[in-house]
Amino acid sequence: MTAGTDETSSTPDGSVAGDPALTALGWRHVYSGKVRDLYRRDDLPGRMLVIASDRVSAFDHVLEPAIPGKGALLTQLSMWWFAQLGVPNHLAPEHDELVTTLPSDAAARAMIVRELDMLPIEAVVRGYLTGSGWAEYRDSQTVCGIPLPAGLSDGDRLPEPIYTPAWKAPLGEHDENISFERTIELVGAERATELRDQSLAIYRAAAATAEAKGLILADTKFEFGIDPDTGVLTLADEVLTSDSSRYWDGLAYAAGGANRLDSFDKQIVRNWLAANWDKQGAPPTLPEEIVETTAARYRELLDRVTR
Ligand code: ATP
Ligand code: MG
Repeated sequence: MTAGTDETSSTPDGSVAGDPALTALGWRHVYSGKVRDLYRRDDLPGRMLVIASDRVSAFDHVLEPAIPGKGALLTQLSMWWFAQLGVPNHLAPEHDELVTTLPSDAAARAMIVRELDMLPIEAVVRGYLTGSGWAEYRDSQTVCGIPLPAGLSDGDRLPEPIYTPAWKAPLGEHDENISFERTIELVGAERATELRDQSLAIYRAAAATAEAKGLILADTKFEFGIDPDTGVLTLADEVLTSDSSRYWDGLAYAAGGANRLDSFDKQIVRNWLAANWDKQGAPPTLPEEIVETTAARYRELLDRVTR
């Protein structure tokens, strides 16, 4: 959903209220997604404060409890990648000093960004076959309709990275895989092509950076928007975090054992839920051990990427 169109405060289920400490500083809560809370200030038109919470979502549900420190880790990792990538992004560094005026807990999770006209597309790039892609491949030897060679196994590297966009469903609905042709219908041929080419280029650059650090970037999802002032396609939201990407350890992958595809993302949470919940009704509370393991994996990824 495009945060920019929301004039009133809205949340997935009405449960997320604005942080009073931020409200007191003039930041008006305008929207909460599953993970991020967005604020505006009346004297800063065209800018937004994005606060990454510790909330964790899986199978389109926000889970209890939160993962301590997750919001700050995601923010640091995104900022690091934005600085590395050298492509237009939504950060508004001219307002950096404003971040320092926030309470320290919020400052550690905060980005001040230019508000973009978000494209309703999740730009997914996959360099390896796994997850839902692997499930589809087993049925039809395709991933999101793209034909692939025979004989691949779960976790195998694809001959070339593939772009498999999804339509970003309105809040509460499931995102839906779509064809490249459908993205042309949604945003026009020129933007659709730019989106695909930029996504593949960023994935390739990031995968090479990760590889140099002993990590495999198996797949990732980008969100882009159009800068209303310049018309430039701009990388937004979070980037290359453990929420938006699947990272594997290069050595474990090469060794090929049972830990080959252990990931640094919320796979631990997904696996536990898959084993302990029938996906009916509200999901169960995560046990402390799962929360701690997940927090530790998120920390380890940040350390290894940014080291
Ligand atoms: P949903 O938007 O469906 O709630 P989500 O749960 O992934 O998805 P979050 O990541 O929690 O959402 O919230 C971030 C929201 O802010 C997203 O809707 C995202 O598209 C939007 N967003 C991110 N960067 C910008 C930007 N620079 N300008 C406008 N909107 C942005
Ligand atoms: Mg998001």
